[in-house]
Order: sequence, then C-alpha cells, then structure tokens
Amino acid sequence: MQVIQSATQLLEVCQAHRLAGRSIGLVPTMGYLHNGHISLVESLRPKVDILIASIFVNPTQFGPSEDLDAYPRDEQGDLEKLRDAKTDIVFLPTTTEIYQEQGELSLKPPALASRLCGASRPGHFSGVCTIVLKLFQLSRCTDAIFGEKDFQQLQVLRAMNRQLWLGINIHGGEVIREADGLAMSSRNAYLGESERIQARVLSRGLIAAKRAFRDQTQDAPLTHSSLLAVIKSEIPEENPEVIIDYIEVVDPRSLTPTENITESTRVILAVKVGKTRLIDNADLSTNDGLSHHL
Ligand code: AMP
Repeated sequence: MQVIQSATQLLEVCQAHRLAGRSIGLVPTMGYLHNGHISLVESLRPKVDILIASIFVNPTQFGPSEDLDAYPRDEQGDLEKLRDAKTDIVFLPTTTEIYQEQGELSLKPPALASRLCGASRPGHFSGVCTIVLKLFQLSRCTDAIFGEKDFQQLQVLRAMNRQLWLGINIHGGEVIREADGLAMSSRNAYLGESERIQARVLSRGLIAAKRAFRDQTQDAPLTHSSLLAVIKSEIPEENPEVIIDYIEVVDPRSLTPTENITESTRVILAVKVGKTRLIDNADLSTNDGLSHHL
C-alpha cells in the first residue's frame, strides 16, 4: 500500500495508471475509520484495478461553530484498516497541500443542496463539492463510492457528476449500523454513555416508519402526515437532550417532501444529541440493515 501526501505525486501516479488502461476507484473519507468506511472500500475493491482511499478532514465543509479542531483522528489505525481491506493507495494530504492559494474558488452546489443539511449548515455542500471535485481531478478516478448514510451528499455529488459531465461511475454504499441500529459515524465517538442510548431515537424513528409502511391497509393507507406522526412519536420533542433539526419524508431524487408514499420514499432526519449532531435516513423497504429490527 502506497501512502501519498503530495497532490502532484498523486496526479502523476494516477495519470500513469490511466494511461496503462487501468480503472481507478476513489473512496473519500475524513478518517477515524469504522466499518461503514471499510464497507465502501470492500464494495468498490472488486470493481476497479486501483483502489484509492483519501483521508482529509476538509475545513471548507465545516461551519465556524462546528467541530473541525475536535474532529477525531487515528492515522495509524486508519492505515492498518485500509491495508487489511487491500487498498492500493492512501492519499493523506495536509490542508495546505489541497488549498494551495489564498482566496481559492469554491463551487456553488445545485439546488438539491439548499434544504435539509444545507439549510442547517450553510456552506457545507459548497465545501463538499469543492473538495470532491479536487479529489476527482487528482485521482483521475473512473469510479467513486459514497455512503447512503449521507444521502443528501450522495445525491448532490451525483448531480455535480451529471451537470459537469464528469463521467465518473458514482456508487452508493448501504448504511452500516451498530447492533442496536445506530448508524456508524466517526461522530459517535463524542457521545457519552446516556447520549449513546438517547441516540437510538434516530434508527427507532426509521424502524417505526418501515413498520407503518409494511402494516398499512387499503382502508387506512399511509399518508405523508400520518407517516411523519409515526416517526415523531419515537422522537419526543420535549426531551432536552435530543433536539430535532429536521424530520422529513422526501422523494429520493428531488429530496423535497412527497405525498406519494412508496417503498423508495426516503425518511431523512437530523437530531442533536447533547452537542453532537447525528443524521440518518432509510427508504421504506424491508430489506436493508434495519430489517431485522422490524
Ligand atoms: P466521512 O468520513 O464521515 O466523511 O465519511 C466518508 C464516507 O463514508 C462518506 O461517503 C460517508 O457517507 C460514508 N459513511 C459514513 N458512515 C457510514 C456508514 N455508517 N455506513 C456507510 N457509509 C458510511
């Protein structure tokens, strides 16, 4: 496994692989890797000749009051996990390696990025699009994979790929969860013992939604508002430790609220547990990582 810190070195190495006709897969991460990240590596690994993982805590996607400096890091542990998962190249740049000039350009993301997390975290998706486009350019990747855990991010990046004719095969990776249903996240490391228990409300809301969809009858079909009520009943508003940012029932492509409740409708939510902002989402099917909780 090759560890590269220099942007120009990565570019040269990747250009050589492309000239030799090899396909390149990219797995962008911010490090502190867990099984969710590794599942992305494992699912892309068989599809490409060269597998690159990047570890970069991207400052431009953090707001001024967010957790950039406190973001957890474990470089040695990350490298071991990536080696075990048969990664060919790890790109591990410094901030100045990525942002070399003062006043650099930043991308204005598509409208898809303005709601949900985009509304709560102004500038976040601009930072995400900018860093991902830089990583696409440096890696010359043919394929890239992003987790459905960050469903809005996945859809925003698919829109960028389409609208800029980048021609990259963008894959989505299923959400990997802890045994109790909590979606794995580097930010789970911030949770104290009682917060960790409170954090179950996110997956509980999603499980309740799936159950309600499965159990609806012709006489009492599920509607947008009855589905929202089911989810909200799992996430009490009066709990001071759990502050709801948003709970929405949306069309998976437009990410806008929908009255057309089907198996592919997405329930998407963001909740602050103590100081930690957690997000999660799922469709209404019964064949994903939450199914055994139904
Ligand atoms: P991050 O390091 O949080 O920026 O995440 C890097 C990539 O891993 C993103 O594409 C995330 O969507 C994905 N990811 C994070 N958590 C999970 C998870 N629990 N299951 C699947 N993918 C995940």
